[in-house]
Amino acid sequence: MIVEQIEYFNSVLPSDVKLVAVSKFHPVERLREAYDAGQRIFAESRPQELAAKVPQMPSDVQWHYIGHLQTNKLKLVLPYVSLVQSVDSLHLMEAISRWAFENGRVVDVLLELHLGAEESKQGFSEEEIIAICEDTPSPIANIRIRGLMGMATNTDDMEVVERDFERIEALYKRIKASGMEGFDILSIGMSGDWPIAVRHGATMVRIGTDIFGPREY
Ligand SMILES: *Cc1c(COP(=O)(O)O)cnc(C)c1O
Repeated sequence: MIVEQIEYFNSVLPSDVKLVAVSKFHPVERLREAYDAGQRIFAESRPQELAAKVPQMPSDVQWHYIGHLQTNKLKLVLPYVSLVQSVDSLHLMEAISRWAFENGRVVDVLLELHLGAEESKQGFSEEEIIAICEDTPSPIANIRIRGLMGMATNTDDMEVVERDFERIEALYKRIKASGMEGFDILSIGMSGDWPIAVRHGATMVRIGTDIFGPREY
């Protein structure tokens, strides 16, 4: 039951860890159940689906985008979201910056760190993230880098997951220690691994299956 799951997560998560309900592939009726249980942050991973759901939900929902984002889809996504968690290339960051400037907005983003061994996965390397955060002489116009996002290796071996989260936690702490302004979000942890993520300093967990059940379409 969605309501019970939202209540469960609210009771077990430390008060400084935000719960993001990953609602991709679930119909709006189920999102409303979560909303009625008090959930306000929802995340989607496909532009059309996000744009279709937004007008069907109350206006105080905060939407996050967590999927791979193509630069020709920005106008379907950026008007609606308070955070893009999945910025995975400089090309995308520059396109967001341009859109934000043209639309008089400042867009909050997380940089996605490529964790684990999967070749298919998106994301920056640690070196690239350090270069963006510590070596770039001036901030990127109309973009606020709020932190890091990562997905651990898809495996049952929890030691591998633990090492992935150790890596992103260390990078997050290093950048934070360098004094980067407004850098305060570490988004790690999903249905299978969120307790490990919380032990490694998550400030935001992204839970889909454990709230809504298996994805429907
Ligand atoms: C789908 C997805 C999640 C949620 O995964 P669950 O295992 O269903 O909790 C979290 N983060 C990202 C980036 C996703 O794409």
